Amino acid sequence: MFNALVVTKDEASGKTAAAVQQISDNDLPQSEVRVAVDYSTVNYKDGLCIGPGAGLVRSYPHVPGIDFAGTVEQSSDARYQPGDKVVLTGWRVGEAHWGGYAQKASVRADWLVPLPKGLTTRQAMAVGTAGLTAMLAIMALEDHGLTPDRGEVLVTGAAGGVGSVATAILAKLGYQVAAVTGRPETAGYLTSLGAARIVARADLTEVTRKPLEAETWAGCVDAVSGPMLGRVLKQMKYGASVAAVGLAGGAPIEGALITPFILRGVNLLGIDSVMQPYANRLRAWERIARDLPMDKLEAMVEPATLADLPRLGADILRGQVRGRVVVDVNA
Ligand code: NDP
Repeated sequence: MFNALVVTKDEASGKTAAAVQQISDNDLPQSEVRVAVDYSTVNYKDGLCIGPGAGLVRSYPHVPGIDFAGTVEQSSDARYQPGDKVVLTGWRVGEAHWGGYAQKASVRADWLVPLPKGLTTRQAMAVGTAGLTAMLAIMALEDHGLTPDRGEVLVTGAAGGVGSVATAILAKLGYQVAAVTGRPETAGYLTSLGAARIVARADLTEVTRKPLEAETWAGCVDAVSGPMLGRVLKQMKYGASVAAVGLAGGAPIEGALITPFILRGVNLLGIDSVMQPYANRLRAWERIARDLPMDKLEAMVEPATLADLPRLGADILRGQVRGRVVVDVNA
């Protein structure tokens, strides 16, 4: 038997409920590699899956948790042996498959990567899906010519998971980071991660009819989208790129959007960590182990247990979580 956060659905009312339960090993859907999970995390999608599912969860009862790190217990795939430390992000685990909010998980070998050298399983999950996505976004900006001498780089939703990791990595790489937040009380935290200046969310959410504004940002990691992305695109420098990862501020973008693309050659790069092939995920994890300041990582972590997850799932959907929530599934 082992502990898991199980979400059940009442078919009559359509309502879901999440609670920690004891599960038998036989109830765990069997795949190629069984992992004793050490840590999982709370991402925005987890908030959706702990709650009503938002169309992501395929069937109930369900165990959410879109990422985890732990130790291989059993493997039918030659790439992994019992005792190997592994990390999982993406592949719709925690949505279409049972995920990391449990002491055991069973997944396809293709979905795993070996724990990168230099990281503990706890550090790997302090990074987690949000941090991996931040790294993929920075790599995409660099692939499109971003270098520290080009000017300030904007990070939106900066106090959240993606934003915190992006801020810390960019600062470590020598970029001048302007961190956008709607929570002024997080200014000290963002400065401690390396942000050179704080931009108030309200300064970027007001919709303007202007087709272009002053060229300000050399690059942007955007976790928010919505009206803010509309404003940011008009403020990008000539030829600069925005790496868009999420929709925490909503999907609809207003305004005369085409102008920055035609007159300023701005690039909008969509970043998705879910189906990243093995080689890309390995490259991103290796960059994280090299470029993320580990002392800053610890400052981002809020520790949690399985029992805390229903509350934290609701908090992240309200934009109330700061940094990265690391769930010790054995606590
Ligand atoms: P968090 O909730 O940790 O961070 C989101 C941040 O966005 C909040 O902390 C808040 O930052 C800001 N925010 C929230 N609501 C609004 C709003 N209405 N208007 C403007 N800003 C807002 O989530 P994550 O960082 O984990 O994820 C961010 C987004 O990225 C989500 O949409 C998520 O689904 C997506 N994502 C995508 C991935 C991919 O592979 N593409 C992987 C991981 C996440 P502040 O208080 O500082 O303003």
